[in-house]
Parts: sequence; C-alpha cells; structure tokens
Amino acid sequence: MQKKLEFLGNLGVFEASDYLYQKERYASFIYPSVCGNRIVRLFKVLLTNNCKFNCLYCANRRDRDCPRYSFDVYELAEIFYSMWKKKIVNGLFLSSGIEIDNNQTQEKMIDVIKILRKKYNYNDYIHLKILPGVDEYLIKKGKIYADRLSLNLESINSLYLKKISKEKDFSKNLLNTLKKLSDLNREKPLRNGITTQIIAGCSEESDKEIMSFSYYLYKNYNISRVYYSGFIPVLKTPFENKKPCSLQRQMRLYQADILIRKYKFLPSEIPFDKKGNLYLNKDPKSLWAEKNKEFFPLEINKASFYQLIRIPGIGIKTALKILEIRKESKIRTENILKKIGVKLKKVSPYILINGKKIKESENGKIESEIYCTIFDEVI
Ligand code: SF4
Repeated sequence: MQKKLEFLGNLGVFEASDYLYQKERYASFIYPSVCGNRIVRLFKVLLTNNCKFNCLYCANRRDRDCPRYSFDVYELAEIFYSMWKKKIVNGLFLSSGIEIDNNQTQEKMIDVIKILRKKYNYNDYIHLKILPGVDEYLIKKGKIYADRLSLNLESINSLYLKKISKEKDFSKNLLNTLKKLSDLNREKPLRNGITTQIIAGCSEESDKEIMSFSYYLYKNYNISRVYYSGFIPVLKTPFENKKPCSLQRQMRLYQADILIRKYKFLPSEIPFDKKGNLYLNKDPKSLWAEKNKEFFPLEINKASFYQLIRIPGIGIKTALKILEIRKESKIRTENILKKIGVKLKKVSPYILINGKKIKESENGKIESEIYCTIFDEVI
C-alpha cells in the first residue's frame, strides 16, 4: 500500500510539476498550490499509472518499462480522507492514466470524489482532471462533486502535439473536450473554474506561440488559468536525453501570462527575442516599459488603474491602494508611496508626483513586483 501511494502520488506530482513545486519541496505526493493568499497542500495523486497511450515524454506511457499500480476507488477515498482528517493535506487533486477506456477511467475517478462527498461528507477542495475525449455526461457528473475541473492540452496545436503524442488528435480529443468544459462552466460556473496545462519546452514551440495560444484560450474558453509545466526528461522514455525546460523560462511564462490575464496586455505587446522567446534576464513588464518610453512618465495622481499597473514596481494591489489614497487627497510626496511599499528606485523613471519627477532614489536590490504576483491566484 505504502509503495503504491508513494508511486502514484509521486507520478501525480510529476504530472503537473510546476515552478512552485520545484521551488518548495514537500513530501512527494503533497502538491503546494495557492488559494487566495495562502498555500494549500493538495494530495495530488493518480488513480492508476496504467495508460493505453504512448505520449513520448510521459512516465506513464504504454511502452515504458516501470511498475504499474492502480487504486481501488474506495481505497483511494479512504486514504485521502484519513490524510485530510489528520490535516496532512487540505485538498485533493485527482488525475489518472487512461486505462482501457477514457470514459471508464473517468467514471472511476468520479466515483472516488463521489464517495468522499457522500460517504465521508467531505466538503473541502477537489480538483478533478478530465480525460481527453470523455463524454459530456461525465463532465457534468464530475462537475457536481468538484470545485475545479481541468483538462491538460499539453501542447498548443496539432503540429506540436504530433511531436509528443502520435495518437491524440488535438482538435477532436483535446480542444473539443475543453470546449465542453468551458460551455458547462459558462452555464453554471464551478467554484474554482476550469484550467488547463501546457508543457513548455517539449516540442520546440516558442514562448510567443505559447502566449498567443493562452490569450486565445482566455478569450474564448473562459479559462481561469493556464499552467505552464516545464518539460522534465523521464528515464526510459524516448525523450530521456532531451534538455529540460529551465525554471527561469517557466517563471517568465507565468509573468507574461499575468500580463495578458490580469494586466490587459496583448500578446503583441510582450517583448520577445528574435526567436520568439521571452528574455530570461529581465521580467517582461520592465522590458515593455523600457521599450515604450513614450507611455511615461505618468502622473501618479491622474493615471488610471490600467495605466498604474503598467508601471514597473506597481502591481494590482499597490495600484488599488494608490486609488484608495487618491479618493481622500492628492499624493504630494513620495513618502506616501514608500509607506504603501512602492520601491521608489524602481518606479522613479516612470512617474511624476504633482508634475515633478522623484529626485531621491533608493539603493539596494529591487525585486520586480510582478515576481511576487505569480501565484496570486486561486488554485
Ligand atoms: S495520455 Fe496522459 S498519462 Fe497517458 S501517456 Fe499520454 S500524457 Fe501520459
């Protein structure tokens, strides 16, 4: 049992290994995720690592020589519930390899969460993975018990998908299923919405292509969030010698994602290098500001919310605080900005206070505000 738990839990974490996970090492099957301002601990697990598919990069691929395990639905519900009771975890993230039939595996996954809700009266967080190509009635059923549903697109179009999975059809199996999720979520929104995951660095797609596709998804599929999972080579797979995606690249993708998702940037405004990749040495918002000098300086007493958040060093929370202060009185000195945590050195080239530039500049290392906001989203 312990071995099975370690194995399927480990693979569950691997399945969507992301920047935060790699930064904060937890027990192998506990996946830290962000909910509001707190980090929650999800029990991220696979129902089975048996899979009929043979995706080239995946630890669960059909042809990979590795131990295979499966949970019984009652067994998995009981394991999770006892961990939750002991406060080892705060929520469940259930995924799976696809056994013989997509629908059949999905049905079992739904049984696990149904048992939790009905038998154990568990009312905390559940994130259920929807398998590619499943029937709509199963998505509807999963939606009854889950707080969040997600479907891994893995790639951004059929051309790139073919490089990592010969058997899956991008439009038929993946986008169509995501569309069903999206339509059902529009009808009656899930508490924590729907998400998807793209693997970065697996099939030579550029960051520009990834961000344009994410923009398309946010516009058309009502997605709460796109996750960017950096490719990590797995032993005994055809991609075992392929270069991994760097954490730096993954972080820049998340930063660019926030710009289009929350800061209303268009993908065409994000600075990319000649190959269409994000610059690794600087965050995209600072680079945009450096390349768009005509936009600045902005008068801090007049700038709109969306102008304020384009200033390097001012994020959403700080912009809201500035607007709050402005309701009471004019901002006359930089000390007011300092008090609400604005890094003067960072903002000084971009703002005017009462028509004047800030003379003083702080010493010391300035962290980009956007870095702090990478995970300011519900899980
Ligand atoms: S379908 Fe999913 S679990 Fe199966 S091989 Fe492909 S990526 Fe891995």
